[in-house]
Amino acid sequence: KQKAIQEGLKQALATGYSILESGGSSLDAIEAAIMILEDNINFNAGKGSVYNSAEKQEMDASIMVGDSQQAGAVASVSRIKNPIKLARYVMENTKHVMMVGEGAEKIAKEGGFELVNPDYFASIENLERLKVTQEKEKLGTVGAVALDQSGTISAGTSTGGMTNKKPGRIGDSPIIGAGTWADSTVAVSCTGVGEAYIRTCAAHEISTRLRLGQDLKVACAEMLDMVAPLGGRGGVI
Ligand code: ASP
Repeated sequence: KQKAIQEGLKQALATGYSILESGGSSLDAIEAAIMILEDNINFNAGKGSVYNSAEKQEMDASIMVGDSQQAGAVASVSRIKNPIKLARYVMENTKHVMMVGEGAEKIAKEGGFELVNPDYFASIENLERLKVTQEKEKLGTVGAVALDQSGTISAGTSTGGMTNKKPGRIGDSPIIGAGTWADSTVAVSCTGVGEAYIRTCAAHEISTRLRLGQDLKVACAEMLDMVAPLGGRGGVI
């Protein structure tokens, strides 16, 4: 399993990196890398998304481009194969930043996205995990950040959320400033117990700290120290 996860990460990294090497944008690179992880059942995003308490998958994703601070997000979508792609579509083709549920799926149809049958996300392993949530909680949200040759950085995050979450619960991953952030100096993607990341605006916190002159490593460590007391076990790219 560990090997399969490492292979998946390698493949995502190689794909994103080759886009950057050939002069592509950081936005294209992170989208391509995240789509590979969404298509891999070993990660908690897209195909491998965990079940909520109603034995259904509700997925969240967001994307942000540093220089322009353009952003897009979708939350609580259940029929989109690659939620990160729809987040980008919202960013580029609507006046909005975040769309949820049926409205987001309607936009997807209009944009020519293929809506998959919810069976596509079925997984015995994830179903078992739901039955024994405490012991087998699946983290593994996927995220990517990239810097391209023009100097633009972008960030993206995609997730099935927390196993056993209540239907309708939305975590930090699709929330710009909480789970994802990019500006002209830093691109951030978070993973962990989303409620704590929302309550601390965790991703944006790193940007604030850098603006005030803090070192990047210290900024990341101190942000994680802020989320920890709120139950925000997790990490950050
Ligand atoms: N942050 C995600 C959420 O709360 C979960 C995760 O990162 O594993 O939905």
